[in-house]
Amino acid sequence: SRFSVGIDVGGTKIAGLLLDGNNEIVMRATLPVPKSSTESLLDGLARVALELIDAAPSEHRERCSVGFAIAGWLNAASDFVRFSPHLPLTGVFVKHELEYRVGRPVVIANDADAAGWAEFRLGAALDYDDAVCLTLGTGLGSAVIANGALIRGAIGMAGELGHVCIDPTGPECACGGIGCLEIFASGTGAERAARNAGLMMTGRELVAAAELGDRDACAVLDDVARPLAQALTMVVGTLDPGVVVIGGGFGTASPYFLDSLRRQYAALASRPESRPLVPVEVATWGPEAGAVGAALLAAHHKS
Ligand code: BGC
Ligand code: ZN
Repeated sequence: SRFSVGIDVGGTKIAGLLLDGNNEIVMRATLPVPKSSTESLLDGLARVALELIDAAPSEHRERCSVGFAIAGWLNAASDFVRFSPHLPLTGVFVKHELEYRVGRPVVIANDADAAGWAEFRLGAALDYDDAVCLTLGTGLGSAVIANGALIRGAIGMAGELGHVCIDPTGPECACGGIGCLEIFASGTGAERAARNAGLMMTGRELVAAAELGDRDACAVLDDVARPLAQALTMVVGTLDPGVVVIGGGFGTASPYFLDSLRRQYAALASRPESRPLVPVEVATWGPEAGAVGAALLAAHHKS
């Protein structure tokens, strides 16, 4: 039962936490993502890690493990970022760079994979050997759990659902592709949809307005949920998960959005009397699932 640090590196903020041996969060540290350079981001990440290790009781510090959940496309060995649409980490050997700066071994995972792992081990997907966890924040990521294991795929990119084309005539994505799902179905997508509808508000304001029943705000969130509901039918058809968990800063912020997603998925699902609807649940760990998952993956890593 060791202490473990988990740090989620999203498109907007770095959220770190320290778990004790009973998986209780005993300390948090956050920082806006330094985007000016790769160096400043890596240095910032190491600073947060060292600060959290320092918060562990002295007798636990040396054995304290460290995991990073990174919003980007990893390689199969989980030590290299092939591409990150929202972070200056493309082409960086992050594991090496962070081990050098933190002064101990670290574990790297995709942020959505880490979130899915936390939900599978200690959250909404507990008791399910087959689960999908979608993380909606700056981008859209996903984790696939099959037969009780996190599926990484042939090159480490399983579950990169955010960058599949759903509209060949759609706008260009941060990845350079056309009409990717995350352009529409993400926190950024929600802000974009609000703008297109003439609503001058942040994602947070949009979510708040929908909770108060504002019709325009609800319509925008319906538009954001629609393509995700379609994607859900494909994910369910392909993987047959026992549960779908929705996480991420945006995904866990809006009960209206979640209900809309459930409604639209139910309306699209074929023959629910033969293929029962899959429950769609909000992440137990909320927006912290990624950081918790990174800490868990690091604590149980054998190296
Ligand atoms: C990235 C994924 C990441 C997701 C959520 C996407 O844009 O391609 O790797 O998991 O955002 O942060
Ligand atoms: Zn894309």
